[in-house]
Amino acid sequence: MGRVTGKIAIVTGAAKGIGAASAKALAREGAKVICTDLDETAGEAVVAEIQRIGGEAVFMHHDVCDEGQWERVTKLAEDRYGGLHIVVNNAGIAPEGGPIEDKSLEDWRHTIAVDLDSVFLGCKHGIRTIKKTTAKGALGSIINISSILGLVGSSNAADYVAAKGGVRLLTKAAALECADAGYRIRVNSVHPGYIDTPMVRNVAEKGMPGLAQTGNEVIALLTMLHPIGRLGVADEIANTVLFLASDESSFTTGAELVVDGGYTT
Ligand code: NAD
Repeated sequence: MGRVTGKIAIVTGAAKGIGAASAKALAREGAKVICTDLDETAGEAVVAEIQRIGGEAVFMHHDVCDEGQWERVTKLAEDRYGGLHIVVNNAGIAPEGGPIEDKSLEDWRHTIAVDLDSVFLGCKHGIRTIKKTTAKGALGSIINISSILGLVGSSNAADYVAAKGGVRLLTKAAALECADAGYRIRVNSVHPGYIDTPMVRNVAEKGMPGLAQTGNEVIALLTMLHPIGRLGVADEIANTVLFLASDESSFTTGAELVVDGGYTT
């Protein structure tokens, strides 16, 4: 018996990095997983990997900023698997860095749309669907991937920091609403430090003006910020997602789990 056997999950941004690792961990522990992403090729590859080890998963193309597409994804969970217990709101972008005074309103709004509006939509449609499934007795869980930059500030990333800080308090609001309404749904946020994923490799490749030029210099700089002496790996965040998704965390709601190698300590 796996740790989430019998549960049905949606994982957004499941084609790469933390989302892919979370989808695989949930499937390995018995969940049926709907993997969603914009990147169909990489998303289908994750599903194929899950199926190779005997897991159950399906891919769906899904832009997390589009409410109509959230309706289609939650409907797929109901039509194909008979309900929904878990939503992992993971998809996100790291925007171009730069000071507030140089940032366009258009760029600001794009980051807020992908990194915060999407989580609102995932909570809204997640709660609507999970509350029906869990009314029969099972427990539901929504896991929102924020960041250490949702806890502390950072120069040249005001849009990302604002979005991830918003995810932190949106999570607490959703947790209280679900508890007040008597829904069997817990809502928690995860705050990773720097994790070695395609997102961080892309950030590194661009360099950090005035601080580090080459990709290796950026990675060395980021490594120094973590007292544990390295970047995290996606599986370390997936393990936290798995804990929050499973009934092992049945008394945990509105919490912010910091998984950052000591960065914010
Ligand atoms: P990644 O870039 O490696 O993967 C993100 C995935 O999200 C990609 O597959 C991408 O196609 C998908 N995506 C992007 N925009 C989308 C959209 N509009 N609709 C659907 N899918 C979309 O990123 P990652 O490092 O795995 O990060 C995952 C989450 O963790 C993000 O929310 C990120 O902000 C957060 N996070 C990452 C780190 C880190 O160091 N990697 C640290 C803290 C928080």
